[in-house]
Amino acid sequence: MTSTDDAIAQPQHTSEKFEIQAFVEQLHQKYQSLRDGKLADYIPELAKANPDWFSICLATTDGRVYKVGDFDQLFTIQSISKVFVYGMALEDHGREKLLTKVGVEPTGDPFNSIIRLDESSKRPDNPMINSGAIATTSLIKGKDPTEKLNRLLEMFRRYTGHDLFVDISVFMSERTTGHRNRAMAHLMLNFGMIDEPVDEALDLYFQQCSIMVNCCDLAVMAGTLANRGVNPCTGERAIAPAYVRDILSVMYTSGMYNFAGEWAYRVGLPAKSGVSGGIIAVVPNHLGIAVFSPLLDCRGNSVRGVAVCEEISRMFELHIFDSLAYGCSLLDAAPKPEA
Ligand code: GLN
Repeated sequence: MTSTDDAIAQPQHTSEKFEIQAFVEQLHQKYQSLRDGKLADYIPELAKANPDWFSICLATTDGRVYKVGDFDQLFTIQSISKVFVYGMALEDHGREKLLTKVGVEPTGDPFNSIIRLDESSKRPDNPMINSGAIATTSLIKGKDPTEKLNRLLEMFRRYTGHDLFVDISVFMSERTTGHRNRAMAHLMLNFGMIDEPVDEALDLYFQQCSIMVNCCDLAVMAGTLANRGVNPCTGERAIAPAYVRDILSVMYTSGMYNFAGEWAYRVGLPAKSGVSGGIIAVVPNHLGIAVFSPLLDCRGNSVRGVAVCEEISRMFELHIFDSLAYGCSLLDAAPKPEA
């Protein structure tokens, strides 16, 4: 890539409004030429993506949406779905019960790792890796598979503000080639980590991964988490506020798989990626960020997505440990020691 050295106007921390739309357009232009990485091909349908697709969208908690590039291109949500299905499992079972079924420990392992699935632990490590996500999906309530899928789709509708559908060709592609996920689910059944019917849970997991979204949808979904669970564009509540903190915590520690530590260090925002090329990041109380570009690094994260999020975080000082971005009102209000 050649153009990443191009200068982008630094946001000014003054009363003068920084032109956010111009900023995302410059960012898009700057990273368009970054063509590192490759398409996911272990799910055959994903290899049909156009490697040039690239969009950046921001959704603020006061309902503004900034978008650039292929923002209305549809793609399957893949692992980003895990975040929202985890939220639904929290609502279905409550925090303490869910913790007995799915842990919250980061693994530092790849998303499809089978290594740590041993009999001594009666629960998968966290809901962001595939094993934990399949276990989480198996806990979604509903009297039959149709009701469970409809509940999931209704939940995603609240986050995006419109009806969503499952892409049947990607679903079938995953269903027929997802041997590793199938093996994991059956091992978990054998270890007593999940219950029958395993094939129904797998189908629901493959369906949730095959839900079609565009980059704007992802930004609004991230913006909903930033807005304590209320969709900032429709005003509709998507998730009980008590669980937003839980969701953001596992995103922060485990959302980027074996890049989670470096992501926390460099970008410092709760985030989640998917193998179709999406990344969401959440700036609590302010902003949802979404980037879509299907060229992936060796960990399954979008190359442009990681680069763009890192730059947005750095330029706006959004790292959660960056004191400029988050003045601590509690400490500000605390009595000051005598001079
Ligand atoms: N559906 C994909 C899988 O189970 C999701 C993986 C991902 O997006 N990281 O392999």
